[in-house]
Amino acid sequence: MIAGEPVIRVGIFERYPSARGAFFGRFNVNGGAAAEGTVEVRPEGGSLVVRDGGGRTIVSGREVGCIADRNGRFLLEGVTIGINFHWQRKQDQTFEGGLRFVLRDDGTITAINDILLEDYLRSVISSEMSAEAPLEFLKAHAITSRSWLVAMLERSHRGRLPQPPPGGPDANGEIVRWYTREDHDIYDVCADDHCQRYQGVSTIITPLAAEAVGATRGEFLVFEGEICDARFYKACGGRTEEFHNAWEDTPVPYLSSTSDAPIDHPPISTEESAAAWILSQPEAYCNTRDPALLHQVLPSFDRETTDFFRWKVDYRRDELEEIIRDRSGIDIGTLLDLVPLARGPSGRIRRLRIKGSQRTFEVGKELEIRRCLSPSHLYSSGFVVQAEGGAADLPERFILHGGGWGHGVGLCQIGAAVMAERGFPAEAILAHYFPGTSLERRYR
Ligand SMILES: [Zn+2]
Ligand SMILES: [Zn+2]
Repeated sequence: MIAGEPVIRVGIFERYPSARGAFFGRFNVNGGAAAEGTVEVRPEGGSLVVRDGGGRTIVSGREVGCIADRNGRFLLEGVTIGINFHWQRKQDQTFEGGLRFVLRDDGTITAINDILLEDYLRSVISSEMSAEAPLEFLKAHAITSRSWLVAMLERSHRGRLPQPPPGGPDANGEIVRWYTREDHDIYDVCADDHCQRYQGVSTIITPLAAEAVGATRGEFLVFEGEICDARFYKACGGRTEEFHNAWEDTPVPYLSSTSDAPIDHPPISTEESAAAWILSQPEAYCNTRDPALLHQVLPSFDRETTDFFRWKVDYRRDELEEIIRDRSGIDIGTLLDLVPLARGPSGRIRRLRIKGSQRTFEVGKELEIRRCLSPSHLYSSGFVVQAEGGAADLPERFILHGGGWGHGVGLCQIGAAVMAERGFPAEAILAHYFPGTSLERRYR
């Protein structure tokens, strides 16, 4: 149980050979030395050496903690965002709160920002959404993000969860894998899309985001007395997915599958129903192309893509063979077929057979499938395969027709924004995506 507002340890960057930044205002370094302006951090002889703009050593140690005298901010240069996604880029970013540089055993540097949860949330909500997003949507998102984070902190305080299976094909040549956020060892969350996009105060804190966080301060989604592991993603594609189809095989009652529409779309149960579903445009909260609304919900670099509800990827066979070889480390020879073996109720594939002339293997779960069939990531694992053309039954092209963006478990961001715009309050939006939960204030 949390006693009050917790401090979150956010990993800003990992394993950099050196770091540069600047302190705006006076900072206390390792409890003594004062620093202001440009700083440079380098590993030297088993510790980190921090120097000022004139090259003078300020302090050294395996870990360097920097705390502002009052209301100070600091800048870190060249922070990578969107790691492994098509929008990956480097940015200088500014933060509030405490800063720590930690020397890793491999001689690299990790930077960590220690920040109060509500301050962190104001930044996350401002980074992920535009200033004009509907207030009830932002409130629903603030409660979701807050719950997810604290549920994770509580899990790690209780001891670590069973870890996902290690990487690489097993003895049967199968790759069945999923990823947890518990793989961060010396901080709670990273600042990237892997956890929640956090760009410090580089993104101006918008008044509406601050209002949404303030109005819901200390409020959590609760199921049977416990704070919920409230997951979210961009768009479900018409129906949300069950927890165990993306992560470990433990059912989570409030992360079950639900129709994301005023009408009840039945769950996908066969390959025929998957094809009929994905190749149609069913009515759904997240089935919107309203540019004004998409502008509100997706930050600019996400708007490069608006075909998230139903999408299509067209590969030449040799092109896809190369992607599979690169991503899985398995040379299958000629790609003969992609066979979905198991799907969840949203239509997302949980297990896929990749059939080649030299090797055939099976891959899962959803994120591993998305990784395996794309140089970055497919939007989702909810797709049907159309093999085209070629002589002697050998396909020349593989066309993937897909639906949804992300794992589909929990809150559908686009759907939630549309619901808010149609007048649903935050409580109703949360009850829709997290059935059986209630709201509780755990600190003031
Ligand atoms: Zn992360
Ligand atoms: Zn949806």
